[in-house]
Amino acid sequence: MYTLDVSGKTGVVFGVTNQRSIGWAIAEKLAGAGARLAFSYQGERLKGTLEKLTAGLQDPLLLQCDVTRDAELDAVFEALSREFGTLDFLVHAVAFAPPATFERPFYEVSREDWTTALDVSAYSLVAAARRAQPLMQRGGSIVTLSYLAAERVVPHYNMMGVAKAALEASVRFLAYDLGPQGVRVNAISAGPLRTVAARSISGFSSMFEVAGKLSMLKRNITQEEVAGLALALLADDLGGGVTGETIYVDAGYHAMGMFLEAPGQE
Ligand code: NAP
Repeated sequence: MYTLDVSGKTGVVFGVTNQRSIGWAIAEKLAGAGARLAFSYQGERLKGTLEKLTAGLQDPLLLQCDVTRDAELDAVFEALSREFGTLDFLVHAVAFAPPATFERPFYEVSREDWTTALDVSAYSLVAAARRAQPLMQRGGSIVTLSYLAAERVVPHYNMMGVAKAALEASVRFLAYDLGPQGVRVNAISAGPLRTVAARSISGFSSMFEVAGKLSMLKRNITQEEVAGLALALLADDLGGGVTGETIYVDAGYHAMGMFLEAPGQE
């Protein structure tokens, strides 16, 4: 049997709110394979939950960070440099767009909401990667989370679709810049999952239901399935040749060109 062993390696996970967070599912897999992990939390409100969630892990490091604040990002990477010395994995599972952007037609998006969505959901990857780079001198792997609306219209997703398009393009440019250093950068485009972030998207229940009914596998995906691919992409043993890529974990939904209401009726 093949067992993945990343003991002795370190990683940081941005974006764990609770046990349903995609970031947490990835953290559990990484920790299970032996990695020592740090987690960032946006505000004090979440620290208690994160402390409870990570209590069983090997000496976890919890660091406060609002990803829109350069000084807080600097503090996180200074702490990682001090505590870990080197960094092998970075998981970016952070996104936000103001609720109005999901509720109103896309053309009504304000300059301010556009900027916020791009800043939190796309620029934060670049800002984190830039600070991780000096700690990844022995190579490393960065994984972020995207969604189908980066390249197709999904009603309501609106501004976040634009932000995810910027995120996926950023993955490619970062992968090019960091490739010579042996640092790989990839995105996983996940199907709908019931998380706190998803709850703030108006129309999410329909997205979830339609994906479950019409995907090739005729079901929704799970956090564990996304985490499984993330682990493969993070670990050089498995995903060592993959970089600059966006890979779908959506039960095949993205590849459909026509949907039959009742499968089998042609
Ligand atoms: P989640 O548990 O709510 O995670 C989103 C995280 O982003 C939260 O921890 C949130 O922190 C954090 N965040 C938002 N603004 C931040 C800021 N300014 N600074 C630092 N952290 C901030 O939801 P999730 O679904 O697992 O989301 C993780 C990633 O997966 C996101 O990029 C999302 O777009 C992507 N994704 C999700 C789905 C889905 O259906 N759920 C599908 C495809 C892709 P707070 O809780 O403190 O706000």
